[in-house]
Amino acid sequence: MRILLVNPWIYDFSAYDLWSKPLGLLYLASIFRNLDCEISLIDCLDRFHPTLANFYSPKSNLWGCGKYYPQVVDKPVILAPYPRRYKRFGLPGQIFCQEIEKIPPPDIILVTSGMTYWYPGVIETVNIIKQKIPKIPIILGGTYATLCTEHAKKYTKADFIFSGSAGEIKPLFFLIEKLTGKKFASEKIPDSFLEFPPPDYNFYQHLEYIVLRTSVGCPFQCSYCAVSQFSPFLQKKAENVVQEIIFLHEKYQVKNFVFYDDALLVNSQEHIPKILKEIKETKLKLFFHTPNGLHPRFISEETAQLLYQTNFVQPRLSLETTNPERQKKTGNKITNEEFIQAIKNLNRVGYQTKNIGVYLMYACPEENLNEVYESVNFVHQLGAKVLLVEYSPIPGTKDWVTYNFNFPDPLLQNNSIFPLYPLEYWQEFQKLKDYVRKLNQRLTGK
Ligand code: SF4
Repeated sequence: MRILLVNPWIYDFSAYDLWSKPLGLLYLASIFRNLDCEISLIDCLDRFHPTLANFYSPKSNLWGCGKYYPQVVDKPVILAPYPRRYKRFGLPGQIFCQEIEKIPPPDIILVTSGMTYWYPGVIETVNIIKQKIPKIPIILGGTYATLCTEHAKKYTKADFIFSGSAGEIKPLFFLIEKLTGKKFASEKIPDSFLEFPPPDYNFYQHLEYIVLRTSVGCPFQCSYCAVSQFSPFLQKKAENVVQEIIFLHEKYQVKNFVFYDDALLVNSQEHIPKILKEIKETKLKLFFHTPNGLHPRFISEETAQLLYQTNFVQPRLSLETTNPERQKKTGNKITNEEFIQAIKNLNRVGYQTKNIGVYLMYACPEENLNEVYESVNFVHQLGAKVLLVEYSPIPGTKDWVTYNFNFPDPLLQNNSIFPLYPLEYWQEFQKLKDYVRKLNQRLTGK
């Protein structure tokens, strides 16, 4: 069976390759290969696509992150009031079309999707595929497809919307069998994420980092977060994770490893310490990154020591707010005391506090901006770097129900427009961002 996998463009006001790879597709590619399928992947967000070099020179920082190729596009009418340029990020359209023309005709096409408000990229991707290879069924999966299933059914030309989870992926394979009339060797289809093989990175000519997961889901239920909608919390066995990392390092000669886990440190006695102790013993010179933020509650001195010894670079911690009421109300994942202890532990084992990033959320429901300034000052006084995150209303979350959010067009869920606040607030938010920038500059001297 021939399968085409596609990662669409991002449409947004801004976007940056902060270790972004279509990991779900790369796991599927690996599974399909084990099932003797012939796979092609078009990743519209591959900054190092060979033909893209005719348009721009991709630059990366020390850890492999960098800017996407941007093209200014017309803003959708609903976003017209927002005074920012709207862009499509990723491969120019002609490269995408050439790629589709180059590949052998597939039996089935799987398109993934990211943030709900990036759906114009999904619509465009599916439209072009339908024009170029009209009769091949397209299955759309991923975040937008799962959280906005009805919208995706209505507005994309995908033939099927798959909103399944990594906890149970067999239904996807049954659907493909039904659509293609071809059979897989069923014993080779993994039951769940726990049996997934390492992701397949063979499609990339230039790789600066590898992303992977040791777990899916999260045992917490924060009121603003949709993670638990995608999968129950499942962690791979520590020894399997270590083998995977060694395999990927040897195969692709990449040193930067990025964990996409939402709860990497949970089950802290059994999971991450075991993984890191084994990694340490290999003496491999690797670097680890955690863009999704670590739970400070689980950073004991021993865990901090292992993070440091195995080169977790500039760890990012999830705090969100220092308001105890809000901490309790939104899910109880952290207290200020636990956070202070985590910073102390990290500092004691060798991390300079200025190299610790701390996520703080703002533009939340029922929020007074003074509360955000207090959180910012609290983190700054501990010597850590503040990383502001704009609140986004996400369908299916507790907040969505509690506050009776009504954003039928996912474009209005974009955190860049501060969906809960009128435009008059932008100035205040800008002042906050400027304030944080100055504080962070004071720490780093840059
Ligand atoms: S702890 Fe993090 S990943 Fe888990 S539910 Fe809360 S915000 Fe989501």
